[in-house]
Amino acid sequence: MIEDMDFESRIVSPEFASFEDDAEITLRPKTFSEYIGQDKVKDNLSIYIEAAKKRKECLDHVLLYGPPGLGKTTLAGIIAREMGVNIRVTSGPAIEKQGDLVAILTALNEGDVLFIDEIHRLSRNVEEILYPAMEDFSLDIILGKGPSARSIRLDVPHFTLVGATTRSGQLTAPLRDRFGVLLRLDLYTPEQLGQIVSRSAGILGIPIDNDGALEIASRSRGTPRIANRLLKRVRDIAQIQFDGRITEQVAREALARFEIDELGLDDFDRRMLKTIITNYGGGPVGLETLSAAVGEEAVTIEDVYEPYLMQIGFLARTPRGRCVTPACYEHLGIKPMGQQSFDGV
Ligand code: ADP
Repeated sequence: MIEDMDFESRIVSPEFASFEDDAEITLRPKTFSEYIGQDKVKDNLSIYIEAAKKRKECLDHVLLYGPPGLGKTTLAGIIAREMGVNIRVTSGPAIEKQGDLVAILTALNEGDVLFIDEIHRLSRNVEEILYPAMEDFSLDIILGKGPSARSIRLDVPHFTLVGATTRSGQLTAPLRDRFGVLLRLDLYTPEQLGQIVSRSAGILGIPIDNDGALEIASRSRGTPRIANRLLKRVRDIAQIQFDGRITEQVAREALARFEIDELGLDDFDRRMLKTIITNYGGGPVGLETLSAAVGEEAVTIEDVYEPYLMQIGFLARTPRGRCVTPACYEHLGIKPMGQQSFDGV
């Protein structure tokens, strides 16, 4: 029910929300053929996987990067399945101490995939354990303290590290260099998201027509996680206020209720863009200044809000800061300053 939804978390946030746990697992594609879009990434991975299997070796370590909700965790699962091995899932912030990582690595089976989400958030200490593990499948452990301390080398099973990050630029060079395969995931097109919405609706038993799926898709900010979330919210409205079937009109009405406009922008996007216009004359405005003005962390603005706003050509990153574009003014129905005074003459 809609009432149960945690409105604290934004409905168009691409980030994972804990209340969606089960549904995410059900909807997660398990094979490359179910995984829609990202053709270049899939083609490359399929070749590397086939080659590794032929050589009876582990797949080289893979770094997946791109905004949240685009299918990095899903791909890691598919890689493990295609390689016929198990996957162990963890995340950078969850591995607090060196010992945590040692425990994870020594518990792996030969050939397993270790997936570390948000790998850019690993602490330096922990990262140092990872270097020899990735390179030589061994660990250097220091036993004891002070003058009696000694270092021992421990072998760990061969494994494939799949790292995911929203920002490859924040990875330290030694860590990035140890990945053999670096793949960038791009935002999806509305057509690809339409296919994802139709597929998810099929799995969840939600009646939907093509136009209904496309309407949801075109408001999902290029992000499958958002598309699936909007589908479920629209279903609620379709069941309560309509006959249960999602058509273009039902999708439009439902999404208007959530104040998500036809491009997928929500209240926060509009507020941020309007702040750039009204407080900073359309930009350029520095990220930190903008962050303080709208009350949102700079990294969140950069990783979560900006990729889509840039993709639709509403926002530009310049060396002097963020600027909104004429297309953005037009969408918000605001006249650029120069034009206003011109009109006023
Ligand atoms: P990330 O790890 O990049 O944050 P996930 O792999 O958790 O993203 O994907 C979020 C959800 O989006 C998954 O539950 C999955 O159902 C869906 N999804 C992601 N990519 C695809 C895709 N290419 N095809 C179909 N569904 C996808």
